[in-house]
Amino acid sequence: MSEELILVTGVSGYIASHVAKLLLEDGYRVRGTVRDLSDEGKVAPLKALVPDAKHPIELVEADLTKDDGWDKAMEGCAFVLHMASPFPDLTTANVPEDALVKPAREGTLRVLEAARAAGTVQRVVLTSSFAAVHGEAAVDPEKNYNEDDWTDVESPDLDSYTKSKVLAEKAAWDFIKELPDERKMELAVINPGFVLGPPLMESHKGSTSVNYMTQIVNRTYPAVPKLMFPVCDVRDVARAHVQALTLPEAAGKRHIITTDSFWMKDVALAASKEFRPQGYNIPTCQLPYFVVWMAGIFNKTYKNHLLPRLGKVMKVDNKRMVETLGIEPTALDCTVQDMIYAMIDLGIVRKAKKYKQVGSRAEVPPAANGEIEDEKKDKGTEKGGEEQEKEKEQEEEKKELEPEDKEEKDEEIKKDDRQPSEAKEEKKKNNEEQKEESEAEK
Ligand code: NDP
Repeated sequence: MSEELILVTGVSGYIASHVAKLLLEDGYRVRGTVRDLSDEGKVAPLKALVPDAKHPIELVEADLTKDDGWDKAMEGCAFVLHMASPFPDLTTANVPEDALVKPAREGTLRVLEAARAAGTVQRVVLTSSFAAVHGEAAVDPEKNYNEDDWTDVESPDLDSYTKSKVLAEKAAWDFIKELPDERKMELAVINPGFVLGPPLMESHKGSTSVNYMTQIVNRTYPAVPKLMFPVCDVRDVARAHVQALTLPEAAGKRHIITTDSFWMKDVALAASKEFRPQGYNIPTCQLPYFVVWMAGIFNKTYKNHLLPRLGKVMKVDNKRMVETLGIEPTALDCTVQDMIYAMIDLGIVRKAKKYKQVGSRAEVPPAANGEIEDEKKDKGTEKGGEEQEKEKEQEEEKKELEPEDKEEKDEEIKKDDRQPSEAKEEKKKNNEEQKEESEAEK
């Protein structure tokens, strides 16, 4: 198959550039669409992605909102990875619904129509989102959300991005279903949770995922809301796309990609344990309910979407990702820490004075779960045991922290060392707090 041509739409994107890199490394012929071929900030790094690729990447211009260029882009392609879609950060930008829904839905149909017209395309892999599986504000904590679930597009609390993803995915399934037998193409859909992991290009600083982590590293906010969502590694998402191109059993199916569901605080802690000793003041405190409520007065996304989800547990099934696509999820620590190292290397976030890492770990192949833990164990043995190493690290951290952070860290350390009964006590307290919050909500 590697001699066949694969079209990747929106190839300059954060996720798509990882997909292109994998395909080029595996020896595939890749053609990518960009909106502006004269944008050197995006084009030059794409050309340098895999310098010794068997087939250098080919780039063409096409915009989801225009017909021009799509027929030419599709010429001779056997496979299409449709990844382009507007994806603004709705917590910071106010984007009108039309600016999202139209290019996502109509753009998807434009791409599929060009694929059909080319007559050579066997399979299309569409990048949808977990938002098309469950995008409503209400979460059922008893449910294990899976690929049979669909976001109700009529639900009044959907944000415009979620709507755009549901409508684009539905349009794609309908389009494929209605094709006459002599023109049949297969469709496989990838539904990633929130994607984190190393960006490959400086231009990815504008992508929603990278922007989120930039805010954490730069301590834009002093605390994080008590929100849980499914998180996945960008390298796992990229591998999922490549698997979905070729595996016969992926055709006609949706595939949720998630490592697990995590509280935003878990993500912050994964960052903090590696980067706080290196001079980054990562916020790990939980934002009180009333602060998010206040923010909701000014921001519709906070009010309609984040507020009702505060404190709610969300379970998501990744069986199809593991069993059908054969992807073992990357550990959260590895995802978060590799992401920040890559962001520092690319100059997306500043290099702190105490920054110790030499070189990026972004190029390290997706680690199996626990790779980082193993690395730490090795280090521990060299210096006389893991336990000793941990104590030393905690002491060093304490010395380096500002007074307010020191109190917070002491609290974390105490929590690590406490007896099960204390942990039980805190769980009870947390449950009570949660109850109070939901009563206040009512
Ligand atoms: P990026 O913003 O990095 O990439 C989006 C890509 O879409 C860019 O290449 C962009 O091109 C292109 N694009 C946007 N609008 C248009 C348009 N009108 N015409 C042509 N191309 C356009 O986002 P991600 O890499 O994070 O997202 C990629 C896909 O994955 C999207 O479909 C997104 O919905 C989906 N997804 C992402 C998740 C995440 O957490 N990141 C989670 C779940 C799904 P340009 O460079 O010119 O702006």
